[in-house]
Amino acid sequence: MHLNAYYPVDVVNGPGTRCTLFVSGCEHQCKGCYNQSTWRADSGILFTSEIEDQIIADLNCTRIRRQGLSLSGGDPLHPANLDAVLHLLNRVRNECQGKDVWCWTGYRFGQLTTEQQQVTALIDVLIDGKFEQALASPELPWRGSSNQQVITLNCTK
Ligand code: SF4
Repeated sequence: MHLNAYYPVDVVNGPGTRCTLFVSGCEHQCKGCYNQSTWRADSGILFTSEIEDQIIADLNCTRIRRQGLSLSGGDPLHPANLDAVLHLLNRVRNECQGKDVWCWTGYRFGQLTTEQQQVTALIDVLIDGKFEQALASPELPWRGSSNQQVITLNCTK
């Protein structure tokens, strides 16, 4: 997996103070996408074990308390990303107690593959669906267009 950006302290992408990872790779090609530089799965930099270790350490940091981890992109559920995201989330669940995980994907929740469902089983809140420019509104909390859903899956709260 490659990543486009990692923000160790983020207050925009999800509730509270969070760590946010923007992965590379997206096949949805939404018209009006604000993140086209992430579409190629090999764009950005390689997601290494050192970066994964840093995310775990940041989530467990007591100096700046994070509510959880946000995964965006690109698409964290792109087939090329599933193994690495699953590995990361298993570590978050095992090593970072009480942290929530939010994930943004262009896939529809009801159409996820078995492999994608293995990842969403470890997610608390999923925002699903392509960005539809005709349905876009800045008023919508956590989503860009009204066709997208904010789905609570496995809330740790
Ligand atoms: S799913 Fe997100 S990153 Fe992918 S094309 Fe659509 S808006 Fe862009």
